[in-house]
Amino acid sequence: MKYIGAHVSIAGGLERAVERAAALQATAFAFFTKNQRQWCAPPLTSQGIYAFHHACAKYQYQSAQILPHGSYLINLGHPRSDGLEKSRIAFLDEVFRCQQLRLTLLNIHPGNHLKMITENQCLQRIAESINLTLSKTKGVTIILENTAGQGSTMGFLFEHLSAIINAVEDKSRIGVCIDTCHAFASGYELRTEESCIKTFSEFDRIIGFQYLRGLHLNDSKSQFHSRVDRHHNLGMGTIGRTVFSWIMKGKRFNRIPMILETVNQNYWKEEIAWLKSEQDRDRDRD
Ligand SMILES: [Zn+2]
Ligand SMILES: [Zn+2]
Repeated sequence: MKYIGAHVSIAGGLERAVERAAALQATAFAFFTKNQRQWCAPPLTSQGIYAFHHACAKYQYQSAQILPHGSYLINLGHPRSDGLEKSRIAFLDEVFRCQQLRLTLLNIHPGNHLKMITENQCLQRIAESINLTLSKTKGVTIILENTAGQGSTMGFLFEHLSAIINAVEDKSRIGVCIDTCHAFASGYELRTEESCIKTFSEFDRIIGFQYLRGLHLNDSKSQFHSRVDRHHNLGMGTIGRTVFSWIMKGKRFNRIPMILETVNQNYWKEEIAWLKSEQDRDRDRD
């Protein structure tokens, strides 16, 4: 069973995001739990929470199919104490929101050293931020997304994600989401089945499939190893369709949310239908 969907808008209320996912015939979805461009947002109301749960029940979405995305403003590896504190407060608020919505996953970009501390110091800071937050919350697993490695962002090597996981105390509440565009842009080859097998066996060796809790399915506008983060619709970019078709046939990608963040939303319904059809063609392959 594959959970396939897209990152939908919350305009008009969180329940509208659920309705948008249902209209796409998605079996998974992602959304921001608040406006991602603002540090502070009004708390969730009990009516808002109820409306969200009601919509999830109506359209049959369970928490395992939902991968909320954290704000881009948050930097859990911030080199300065004021920036770090601000990020940790905002992050705690996001995890609380997920807890209130009875969601079990929260996807985040690991952090950014801003060229002021070493990569390793940044990774340790990120892990410390996660440990602090996990100790104050319950039920939510933090999902680290690999990045394209643009600027001074961390998380573009599997080794970065594995270093954070190693320093997180509660391993049952930490996981990873692999974004295909980011992986390709950061230097992991995905254009042929052989290269997909190689990249994901490297993933398994360095991080481990037991930590894979989500995927972002994006083609790329930027070139291989360019470290530039530009998404494209499936089959229209520099990666091509092979990797997406390959993922749909792999059992190791069952029961994790797989989310489109492709640029032209008009194709989402079609892309979801295509991904589903690729899954059905060869159901039994491992
Ligand atoms: Zn992504
Ligand atoms: Zn991206």
